[in-house]
Amino acid sequence: MSSLDPLVRPNIRALRPYSSARSEFQGVASVLLDANENPFETGFNRYPDPLQRLLKDKIAEIKGVRAEQIFLGNGSDEAIDLLIRIFCEPGVDHILSLPPTYGMYRVSADIANVPIVEVPLTADFQPDVDTILQKADAHSKLLFICSPNNPTANDIKLDHIRDILRRFSGVVVVDEAYIDFSERASCTTLLDEFERLVVLQTFSKAWGLAGVRLGMAFAPPATIGLFNKVKPPYNINQLTQDAAYLALENAEEKDQWVQEILTERARLEEQLPTLACIEHVFPSQANFLLVRVGVPRELYQFLVERGIVVRDRSRMPGCTGCLRFTVGDPQENDLLLAALRDYDLQNDQS
Ligand code: PMP
Repeated sequence: MSSLDPLVRPNIRALRPYSSARSEFQGVASVLLDANENPFETGFNRYPDPLQRLLKDKIAEIKGVRAEQIFLGNGSDEAIDLLIRIFCEPGVDHILSLPPTYGMYRVSADIANVPIVEVPLTADFQPDVDTILQKADAHSKLLFICSPNNPTANDIKLDHIRDILRRFSGVVVVDEAYIDFSERASCTTLLDEFERLVVLQTFSKAWGLAGVRLGMAFAPPATIGLFNKVKPPYNINQLTQDAAYLALENAEEKDQWVQEILTERARLEEQLPTLACIEHVFPSQANFLLVRVGVPRELYQFLVERGIVVRDRSRMPGCTGCLRFTVGDPQENDLLLAALRDYDLQNDQS
């Protein structure tokens, strides 16, 4: 028995999943009368491939994983939700998370009525491995590690992740939504070593496809089998599959965007600290910067009045006084810097 099996909810282990018309048939057919579709060609009159095989082959090639190690979700948010539903028995099991971090781990757990045990990151935004292990018990089914972490922007050290993977007995989910902006290698390289590892990535950031809603979960085939068992049969629509395939065929465009964003991030990292209203710019391995400012709410409002929306993270634990700025294009970043200079001028006069 694998170390994964006892972690799965009994009802999911026993589940007989929905079998869609198209997944029951293997082979080539010229007359499709199995799925109650409209026979007239619209380009989209047929259901999409429930297992997105063409797209997964392409992703496997680019990400250096095997197609059987890939699950695709309606955004990585769907993968987060499904993980909780696969592993956590409401009212019995719980998840662990390391705040300040991405808000959907908590929301998905709350929706599923699954408690969340929080172990704050240390002052340098790294996991406190000993406390995590002290708080973990047999009902700690999932631990979410976000790296680069949103909103703190730093990488979680690979040594910590390996340490946790060795010592924690639940499933470790490493959310790498921002990995393309980081110097650190992806944890997908650890997949063949650790049975209880899930790595999340997304088309929403570097790939420029937030609007199509496509997230990736990389995991050993046994875990992918669980995802496929519980997912809605046609969770990835044809338009999304086509758009992502096209993007993958033009991967150099993504690389250029990443380069430009990194250049702009470096420019903001240099310019922001010269402004009086910016107290500290935290180091970033992502496409955003966490900055500590004097009066976050006031500065947030000032920017909104100039049509610039940033994210107020000042009420998150460990982020007192902090705003989060996404790195925009050069013009957008110029507008942000100019607005912040105006704010300084106004405060100087008052
Ligand atoms: N993980 C993190 C860390 C994120 O910041 C986000 C989006 N802000 C997501 C996951 C969700 O991504 P998706 O668009 O793929 O659902």
